[in-house]
Amino acid sequence: MASKNYILSPEIADYIQSVSLREPDILQQLRTETQKMPRAIMQVSPELGQFMRLMIQLTCAKNILELGVFTGYSTLSMALAIPEDGKIIACDISDEWTSIGRSYWKRAGIEHKIDLRLAPALETLEDLKQTTNAPLFDFIFLDADKANYGAYYEACIELMRPNGLMLIDNTLWDFKVADPDIVDLETNVIQKLNQRLSTDDRVDISILLFGDGLTILRKR
Ligand code: CA
Repeated sequence: MASKNYILSPEIADYIQSVSLREPDILQQLRTETQKMPRAIMQVSPELGQFMRLMIQLTCAKNILELGVFTGYSTLSMALAIPEDGKIIACDISDEWTSIGRSYWKRAGIEHKIDLRLAPALETLEDLKQTTNAPLFDFIFLDADKANYGAYYEACIELMRPNGLMLIDNTLWDFKVADPDIVDLETNVIQKLNQRLSTDDRVDISILLFGDGLTILRKR
């Protein structure tokens, strides 16, 4: 059955999956293992994983930054799409969750493409900014803790090359962003970021209806 979709009926979601999803076995196995976990909702959908691979192939992205690894499904999906000399800097704070991903990365034979940084992502981003001669990123996937989304975005845009692509997950946040009366930190941070993006002349943007919203943007 298709994963949770906020807009489509289960029938249509299942149909789309049945005629479009091409999920490598290793990803399917990791998804199945993650689904048994209490926080499985944090895993990206297989459709989004496939969309990320398509975007990477279209843009010939080689240098990738990921914020929010969880059990490594999105990381593995991207690693399968980049060339042999491609690199993903993957940021997370959980050794427990990422260790599940690491065993699948190894089995898939792509672990050499992934540089896992276990630290608060803002620290890793600061380190990356200080690293001279580091190549700017071609592709960034932002899917970490929502309270820091604004700060992550600002750091990421600095670290991305012109014409680079960024995907920001959960930008409609269970559709709570459309309710002006909601006062919780995460919703308010995402509302502010969406507002900022709507007039940010450094980027071109579009919001796609993947799950609870995916913003895709190109740096000018
Ligand atoms: Ca997400």
